[in-house]
Amino acid sequence: MSDAPIIFSGIQPTGRKHLGNFIGAIRQYVEGQDRGDPAIFCIVDLHAISVAYDPAELRERTYDTTAILLAAGLDPARCILFRQSDVREHTELTWMLSSVTSHGDLNRMHQFKDKSAKQQELVSAALFYYPVLMAADVLAYRATEVPVGDDQRQHVELMREIARRFNERFGETLVVPELRIPEVGARIMDLQEPERKMSTTGGTPSGTLLVLDDEKAIRKKLGGAVTDSGREVVRSPEKPGVTNLIDILAVARGIDQEQVEREFDGAGYGDFKGAVAEAVVGLLAPVRERYEQLRPDEAALEQALAAGAEKARALAAPVLADVRDRMGIGPAA
Ligand code: ATP
Ligand code: MG
Repeated sequence: MSDAPIIFSGIQPTGRKHLGNFIGAIRQYVEGQDRGDPAIFCIVDLHAISVAYDPAELRERTYDTTAILLAAGLDPARCILFRQSDVREHTELTWMLSSVTSHGDLNRMHQFKDKSAKQQELVSAALFYYPVLMAADVLAYRATEVPVGDDQRQHVELMREIARRFNERFGETLVVPELRIPEVGARIMDLQEPERKMSTTGGTPSGTLLVLDDEKAIRKKLGGAVTDSGREVVRSPEKPGVTNLIDILAVARGIDQEQVEREFDGAGYGDFKGAVAEAVVGLLAPVRERYEQLRPDEAALEQALAAGAEKARALAAPVLADVRDRMGIGPAA
């Protein structure tokens, strides 16, 4: 057995993906595909149905997200990229894990509280159950490492607890995975409301910078980013807007936050924002170009997802067989 990590992460096909997803998650996926053995990335369409959605649009967004991931550098030859609903093991394991998941723990999840408060019509049981499905996604592969943004800390902590509780109750079966969040950029904030995270479903339109935004839109959104009444380019809890832009520039250029502060010492916000826009255009323009080439060929995208699902199923099926056996579900193995 190799010492390489088994990496697993999922991304929702709701809405279009944004700079926070790119910096907090997608960038880590691309880096992970050569470290992980295997590195498994999943487009979690079943998570997306936990809030109001349109069925035809869900399919479109799934292809959009697949094409974005490929354009960003995921290579189906070096990772396993698939659609969650194609591998039924995820949903089956969700139910089984729910027997060792505490209702009280689910009740404490921040994401459920935030998202349920925003629902106009139905607060679905699926929204409440989201973290159990997420636990199943990861535990079905005995993954050791879960690269995510900072907002997913609590969900990863819960899946660790679920794995531990399963092992205590039924014997050593599942692997307790480690959280992996980037040092810089784990929480990219909304450009208009820098107190809250940039989000696919909840943010402000002009504060959400999309991976597929064109150069003009990128410059406009970053030029209009909320800062503060000062003029110092430094990180501080009182300066969430400027701090966010420093993080973005540091990641886009691949340098330290301190280097950014030194470079823009005394420069004022205008020049600084211009430099952030320049760097983000440099980061995203090549992704958008490749996306334009990949997105029209839905048959090819579908084929890539299907091939990925086959590999994923081959890994998850034996884990599910163990889980069923341990739990006394079905005939004895
Ligand atoms: P929603 O707000 O509807 O939950 P989302 O923007 O969080 O959508 P997801 O598909 O749920 O998108 O998240 C995909 C990955 O992106 C996760 O690993 C998540 O932690 C990460 N992520 C999401 N938002 C940010 C952000 N603002 N900064 C850094 N990482 C983020
Ligand atoms: Mg999310």
